[in-house]
Amino acid sequence: MKTALIYSDDFSRFSYGSSHPLKPFRLKLTYELIKACGLLAPDDPRVIVPAPAKREDLLTFHSAEYIDMLEASNSGRELPGAAAYGLGYGDNPVFPGMFDWSLLVAGASLLAAHLVDSGEAGIAFNISGGLHHAQANRASGFCYINDPVLAIMLLVARGRRVAYIDIDAHHGDGVQAAFYDTDKVLTISLHETGETLFPGTGFERQTGEGTGRGYSVNIPLPLGAGDELFVRAFAEAVPQRIERFRPDVIVSQLGVDTFRSDPLAHLNITTEGFCTMVRMIKSLAPKWVALGGGGYDVTNVARAWTLAWAIMNDVRAPDDIPPSFLQRFSGAAFPNRLRDGA
Ligand SMILES: [Zn+2]
Repeated sequence: MKTALIYSDDFSRFSYGSSHPLKPFRLKLTYELIKACGLLAPDDPRVIVPAPAKREDLLTFHSAEYIDMLEASNSGRELPGAAAYGLGYGDNPVFPGMFDWSLLVAGASLLAAHLVDSGEAGIAFNISGGLHHAQANRASGFCYINDPVLAIMLLVARGRRVAYIDIDAHHGDGVQAAFYDTDKVLTISLHETGETLFPGTGFERQTGEGTGRGYSVNIPLPLGAGDELFVRAFAEAVPQRIERFRPDVIVSQLGVDTFRSDPLAHLNITTEGFCTMVRMIKSLAPKWVALGGGGYDVTNVARAWTLAWAIMNDVRAPDDIPPSFLQRFSGAAFPNRLRDGA
């Protein structure tokens, strides 16, 4: 199956601020590690550079007044009334280029959806995407524009049946909200229980409403859940529902804040459990739009998404991280090995 990696060095031009846990630089680390591991050739045609989304693309989900506020805040200056849209404190800082960053990430996910829909790629991976908390009218959880929703909207508008699978540590609440009352999109989120983690939602009883009843699936996992529990829950819940729904395309959010060393969540996933789930998604997906997501230990982000890219391409990644990469990015304190454990 043809694959595409959506990437731009411009991703890491942006910064949420030095003390903020979301580091766009992790995307450059991931891209460089993929290259260092020999999983991309020089000038590889699989790498496709995104263009920023357009205002009308955002309007398929977000309100015009919210987009206006984001655009007006792009200078990095906090405007009166911004707080009503979730902007300007801790999680969702108003930083210079905030709107440009959001447009680029959204454009990258829309490009991934377009490539898969048009048949130019069977699998497209936007490592910058997966900002699943953004709501129609407000920023939430480091997310300003909900790129998974926009990608799904594009696919649905082109007559595709879409299933969304979210394995981030946090509940995919923004995506669930967008499709809560429709049977056109199946959303499945596995995450640390909302009793102990933001956003405090995603319980089993949240199953959708109206014609959407049964099309929102939530699998909350207890504090400390590791590979065994997480993967077993995935294997028991996801394949049967996907097979019954028969999607044309799977959109997945591959957050890696589930890993044991992540500073924000309280789960214990390793690269082994993560890769097992990525392989299962691949086997279930007729076509696949893969998105990034959370991940606040940047070494996990780069290692896990490098392994995911190898799986997408049916090649084996090396066991060790090349010494030249370790030397070049010594400040990030990578382990020698690509995989966790033995
Ligand atoms: Zn997360």
